[in-house]
Amino acid sequence: MALEEYKRKRDFAKTPEPSGSVAARKGRELFFCVQKHLASHLHYDLRLEHDGVLLSWAVPKGPSLDTSVKRLAMKVEDHPIEYGEFEGVIPEGYGAGIVMLWDRGSWTPESADVDAALRKGDLKFTLNGYKLKGSWVLVRTGGRYAGARGGGDRAWLLIKHRDDWSGDIDITEFAPKSVKSGGDFEDILADDTPAVWTSNRPAKGGETGAMLAAIIDRAAKLKARRSGAPSGNAARGQRRAPAPAAGKRARKSPRKK
Ligand code: MN
Repeated sequence: MALEEYKRKRDFAKTPEPSGSVAARKGRELFFCVQKHLASHLHYDLRLEHDGVLLSWAVPKGPSLDTSVKRLAMKVEDHPIEYGEFEGVIPEGYGAGIVMLWDRGSWTPESADVDAALRKGDLKFTLNGYKLKGSWVLVRTGGRYAGARGGGDRAWLLIKHRDDWSGDIDITEFAPKSVKSGGDFEDILADDTPAVWTSNRPAKGGETGAMLAAIIDRAAKLKARRSGAPSGNAARGQRRAPAPAAGKRARKSPRKK
């Protein structure tokens, strides 16, 4: 029931994302992750396991270790537990783009009753990830950002508490890559299957569209380099990235529709 919105927004015949059919695991630490998501806008999805689903907030600027910084975190629909390990390309539909597993680990609520804390709009918790650790709080803003973001009571703030793990290091800049593959967005694209790769045309136009085009461009070069010189049947029938010319070459999508 909690995953209805998640399922309603997706066509699982068309997306490699998990459908949420696996039952929740029990008797262990609670999972948390942050997925860096290059979609219509770049954002970081913070997900906390609770009651068999992943409670989810989209954080446009990503988490900050600076205790004076409040990061807007839009509450979004619960996600299935197994989504938390997902890294790859969403070729079309809701959230189309590239998902990177930016951090993962376990979390511990600092209040005994998580549901009560959520209702109250004040959830304190401890993270034990690779990049994010220590004490944090999510506070509902009471609609302060509702006008600009259209989020109503979905607008929360993500704030780091002062402890050994807080500081002024910009963690999204300092540690930008995947904790799963070690790669960046272009590596994730380059590692993907040609079918997903060639049909991938997520964002169009605008700043993110340009950013995505640049990433696809870099991914095409990486992919070409990894495949090496075409030999035998392996390369036959596959659309290969054009060889980069000296200097800046024309920005082109790998395939035109
Ligand atoms: Mn997202």
